[in-house]
This record gives sequence, C-alpha cells and structure tokens, in this order.
Amino acid sequence: MFTATGDDWADRAAALRLHTRMFIDGEWVEGSAEPLTPISPRDGRRLPEISAASADDVDRAVRSARRAFESGSWSALAPRERGQRLLAFAQRIHDAAEELALTISLEMGKPIREALQTEMRAVVNCLRWYGEAADKILDELPVTAPNSLALVTREPAGVVAAVVPWNFPLTMTAWKLAPALAVGNSVILKPAEHSTYSALRLAELAYESGIPAGVLNVVPGAGHVAGRALGEHTDVDVVTFTGSPEVGRRFLGYSAASNGKRVWPELGGKTASVVLPDADLERAVRATADGCFYNQGQMCTASSRLLVPKAQRDRALELAAEAAMATRPADPFAVSTSMGAIVSEKQLAAIAGFVERAAAEGGEVAAGSADRYEAVKGGSYFAPAVIGVTPTFEVARREVFGPVLSVIAYDDVDDAIAIANGTEFGLAAALWSNDLNAVHTLSRRLRAGVVWVNCFEEGDMTIPFGGVKGSGFGRDKSLHAIDKFTDLKTTWIELA
Ligand code: NAP
Ligand code: MG
Repeated sequence: MFTATGDDWADRAAALRLHTRMFIDGEWVEGSAEPLTPISPRDGRRLPEISAASADDVDRAVRSARRAFESGSWSALAPRERGQRLLAFAQRIHDAAEELALTISLEMGKPIREALQTEMRAVVNCLRWYGEAADKILDELPVTAPNSLALVTREPAGVVAAVVPWNFPLTMTAWKLAPALAVGNSVILKPAEHSTYSALRLAELAYESGIPAGVLNVVPGAGHVAGRALGEHTDVDVVTFTGSPEVGRRFLGYSAASNGKRVWPELGGKTASVVLPDADLERAVRATADGCFYNQGQMCTASSRLLVPKAQRDRALELAAEAAMATRPADPFAVSTSMGAIVSEKQLAAIAGFVERAAAEGGEVAAGSADRYEAVKGGSYFAPAVIGVTPTFEVARREVFGPVLSVIAYDDVDDAIAIANGTEFGLAAALWSNDLNAVHTLSRRLRAGVVWVNCFEEGDMTIPFGGVKGSGFGRDKSLHAIDKFTDLKTTWIELA
C-alpha cells in the first residue's frame, strides 16, 4: 500500500471518472458561475470543465451547512460515533488512495510516487489521528468556592469554511477537515482551482462513510468569487485558510467587513537553513537542496535560503549545484520520477522571472536557468536553479514557490540570525550543528513557528504546524488545531 508500481498510470489517468459538479447537501449540483477549465500541467492537455460556484451557490452551501449543524445529525452525535465515522472515512480514502493520488498527479503535476507515498499516507494518517482523538478531548472543571460549580466546555464553532491551496491539495484539506469535523462542525470546502477533482472525490467518500448531507459541502470556483463569498458570508463562523499572504490578508478584510468571523491564516514562507561551522556541510547542503526542490519547490516550508559561513560559501554553492543537476524533472506518471511538473504556465513564468531578475541583479547562477525544461511535450517543467546571492536580492527575500535555492554567506552567528529573521515571513527554519548550546540558544532566536535541527521536514500529527509574522498565526495538526474550531463555554452553577 502507498507504493506506486506499474507503468500504466497514463492509461489509468485517461480512464479516471472525474467529478465536475459542486457537492452540496449530499448531491451533485450545477454551479451558476463561469465554469473552471483546468489544464493538466503534465502535458498541457485540457481536462473536463468544472461547474463553479457563484456567491448565490455559496449561500446555498452555507445554508445547507447551517441546517445540518442545527439538525444535530453530526454536531449532536456522541464524539465516539463521530470518531468512528472519521475512521471509516480514512479507510475509504486508504482504499481509494491510488485513484486519488493519480487525480492529484493529473491536476497539479506531482509525481505519482510522491502523491501516493507522501500525500495519501499523510491524509489517511491525519483523518485516523483525529478520528481516534474525537472522544479523548477533555473539558475542564476549575476549582471554585464550595457553593459553586464551574464547567468549562468546548462547543463546536458551527459553520467552518476551509479555503486551501493546490500544492498538497488533500493534505491541506485533511488538516482542516479532520479537526473541524471531529468536534462536530459543518464544513464548506473551497478547493484551489488547480486541484478541484480530488476534493470532489473526497467529499463523495466522506458522504459514503456516514458523514451526513450538508456536513461537508464542496464549492469549486474562482478564489475571488467563491472564496470571497465564503469570506464575506455573515453565517460562516470560522475561516481556516492556507495560501498566499496576500489572499490570507484579504480574508481578514472580508471578516472585518462582514461578521467578524474568526480567520486562521496559514501563509507563505522563506525558510532559512542555517549551517553552523561545525556541521557536516555536505549533509546539510544536500538536505537543504532536497527540501527546496521537493514538490517542484512548491512548498510553504521550502528551504529556499541556504546560509553558510563565508569560508564555506564556494564549496556550498558547488554542492548545491551538484544536487540541483542531479534532480531532473520527468513524467509525473512514471514511478521513478521524483520531480514532476509545475502547477501551471503562469506559475512557471513567475518562477523563471525570479531567476532572470536574480541573474540581472548580479547573482551567481551555479545551476539552472530561466528556461523551461521539456520533460513531457506540452507540459510545464522547470529544472532546479541554485544562485549565489546576498540577503538583499529579491530572490532571497520573496517567496518563489518553485525550485530555486539562494545560497548566502554570513559573517558570524549574529549575522546568520539577522539574515534568517530578515524576511517578512516566519514559518520554518533549520539549524545544522552538533553544538548543544548553539542549537538551543539559536533555535530560541529564530523567529519561526517550526525549527528543524539536523533534519528537515520531520514531524508527525502530534505536533502543531504554523508560523509567525507574515506567515500567519493559524496552527494545523495536533490537539491545538481543535482550538480553532471550538468555542469555550462557561457554565456557572450556584449551589444551594
Ligand atoms: P492562493 O493564491 O492564496 O490561493 C489559496 C486559496 O485561496 C485558493 O483556493 C484560491 O482559489 C483562494 N483565493 C484566491 N484568491 C482569492 C480571493 N481573492 N478571495 C478568496 N479566496 C481566494 O495560494 P496558492 O497559490 O494556491 O498557494 C500558494 C501559497 O500557499 C504560497 O504562498 C504558500 O506558501 C502557501 N502555503 C502555505 C502553507 C502553510 O501551511 N503555511 C501550505 C501550503 C501552501 P483559486 O485557486 O481560485 O485561486
Ligand atoms: Mg494563487
């Protein structure tokens, strides 16, 4: 399971049955907005049109979600029963993992191997984890005066809107759905335009697992139409969002202009990987390059800045360039492929622009170029680039969301920390050293929600994930995510 084998993935993709309508109240319905016209980045082929939600359609989905919530069909179930159904949902996803992985690969270009091995495994794990946690969440009974009894209980927030990106389409979705559903909310999911088919199939599996009509509605559509309508709806209680800083801030604005709903933004990043002089340079560079190129660089945590001591800069640049040159984009449907297609032509052009401007600014391009790469005819591919720069370069400050690694030299540890903390973001950082004191003191000084020491991208469902500063303040995973989707109620009883 979760291992991609065989060479018939293209045939299997051609035979996929893709859903193309909205899923509201347990039914497939046509949307009334301009349909989506997806293109597979693998080969530029047009995929079936998807019916899209207008603001009125979103309103219909919100009313359905509210009705379901008020009916108690899900919100009033015993937590153990909700947990059981989430486990059943996880099992159905497990059983459909190959089909879902292939759908993701087709729609956003991720290699089938990664879609199955990493993404689908993470989705199943996440749903299982919250399914198991559903009846293990405790309320509080604070100690008060003898003639009183105070209960602090958690209540589901109500109607939750989840607006997610395409880079880990089902993982991001599971991170939102699982905790929100575990505690009894109704959820409306607005998938990214580039990853809608997989979201629609997920909704069907949820429904088949006993998650009642209206409890999970999916509204495909354009961000500025369907996403915005959710953000502005006065009967949505919570927005949980993963995406770009720009859109995340828009949601805060939608909230302010409507009902003051809670918005949980989880936004971009510009992860610095700080290599201290005592570290194994080769190992650190290799892990940093892999962390930057993984998922075609379309990672909020991508280790896009490698910070090395001045004396080791040239060697680091050389090692990083070797790692880049060893990573060639290839057909996402071949099981040996580790780097697939860039999500869209637009994204490809944006990435190329960063490399072009970095070169024009005087960056030392040690690997790659601004040119596209042809792995499959008609597809959108980009070979990794490594560029020696200083911290003020555009490519060293802005999120590229593509396989472009900036290598930066630092003078001393204080300089390294200043550079690492010197962007608008604060999602993740990495430190490479075996000096116990340096590891502890420096990880405290790094302004990031996640610090990896002598590793990259490690973690599991028990730990929270999210950032500080411009990376937003929402936290996914772990029991902390439950806080986003519940309200605390105090019941004070005066005893006679
Ligand atoms: P995005 O453009 O911000 O889109 C995210 C979602 O918001 C999509 O569903 C999008 O719909 C929707 N949207 C777009 N414009 C909107 C608007 N005006 N109003 C309401 N909704 C709107 O981000 P993306 O390009 O999909 O993903 C890349 C970004 O996500 C990067 O910045 C990355 O760092 C971040 N990210 C963060 C994390 C994390 O956990 N912190 C994880 C993964 C990705 P459309 O598809 O229709 O545009
Ligand atoms: Mg976008």
